[in-house]
Amino acid sequence: MLPPGSTIGIIGGGQLGRMTALAAARLGYRCHIFTPEREGPAEQVSHACTVAEYTDRAALEAFASSVDVVTFEFENIPAESVRLLAEHVAVRPGWNVLETAQDRLAEKRFFNGLGIETAPWREVTGPDSLAAAVADLGRPSVLKTTRLGYDGKGQVKITDGTDLAEAWASLKTDVAVLEGFIHFEREVSVIVARGLDGAWACFDPVENRHVNHILDTTLAPAPISESLAEQAIGIARKAAESLELVGLLAVEMFVTKSGHLLVNEMAPRPHNSGHWTMDACLTDQFEQFVRAVCGLPLGSPERHSNAIMKNLIGDEVESWPALLQEPGAKLHLYGKAEARPGRKMGHVNRLFPIT
Ligand code: AMP
Repeated sequence: MLPPGSTIGIIGGGQLGRMTALAAARLGYRCHIFTPEREGPAEQVSHACTVAEYTDRAALEAFASSVDVVTFEFENIPAESVRLLAEHVAVRPGWNVLETAQDRLAEKRFFNGLGIETAPWREVTGPDSLAAAVADLGRPSVLKTTRLGYDGKGQVKITDGTDLAEAWASLKTDVAVLEGFIHFEREVSVIVARGLDGAWACFDPVENRHVNHILDTTLAPAPISESLAEQAIGIARKAAESLELVGLLAVEMFVTKSGHLLVNEMAPRPHNSGHWTMDACLTDQFEQFVRAVCGLPLGSPERHSNAIMKNLIGDEVESWPALLQEPGAKLHLYGKAEARPGRKMGHVNRLFPIT
């Protein structure tokens, strides 16, 4: 257990690191950020910041020897860098978790290996194998890079008119995954925390609505049956236990029209679909993350209010003066200077009594 006063090293310098550092500060910890970008959202609120590439060995070693534990708000860092960090300091969650979450194929094999359903999928390694996979799974289907995809980047929808050779070439990769297209009823996600002692705690499943592939709104709780909510929690818990995860695991799922859950992807860190917890739960996802990573007992994830979280994307952030005046609304801004289109600038949580 790391006592308050210790320093948490966070890989990644964005808003997830910022909100983790703020939660850590409330419990008396300091945060040291490692990021390639200067003056990012996390650096602004942290005790120290190393600005260096994720492959810079000397910087990683100096960072690892100046912190008491290392965690991630960004999981796409090279294996070699994580190995180097782990030689010097505890890294939570561990490399096995990052490795599985970094790669869509590894992730699907992992879930399917646990008996957990995903959309039907095929590994694709070139235009011919894409044609064979499309013949198998049909159109529409979705071709995705295995690595570094987020917010719909690294994805092409294959429809009746799509030229497969062009679709393949557009991804600029050697390996990809083709997924059958799911005509889902809704998308949900679950965030589970697992402590150093194996204890776990789960936030209520929520519904996520995307606009242009970017999360727009989260409804907490998800309007789904209790039994489906329990199934969703069971999936997240089984995944976290099987990975022996210490930290947080967010699992995104589709609810099919027939009421089945199919896992889409997972992220071993705080997640945008958990921002509602900041104002609607006794312990929010960032504090829970800090507790898990520092080996503290987990807090109660109980929801004391219902909430709707709305992301403020690009120039939507300009509505901040009105949001500050809105009763029942709680505004969170990330300190980003420029409101580029598609950029997450902040979010607002609107709270409602539990009915
Ligand atoms: P991802 O990057 O995999 O999270 O995909 C981003 C969004 O694209 C998802 O949240 C869905 O809204 C949509 N999407 C991804 N994969 C599929 C699929 N196989 N079927 C239908 N919609 C999908």
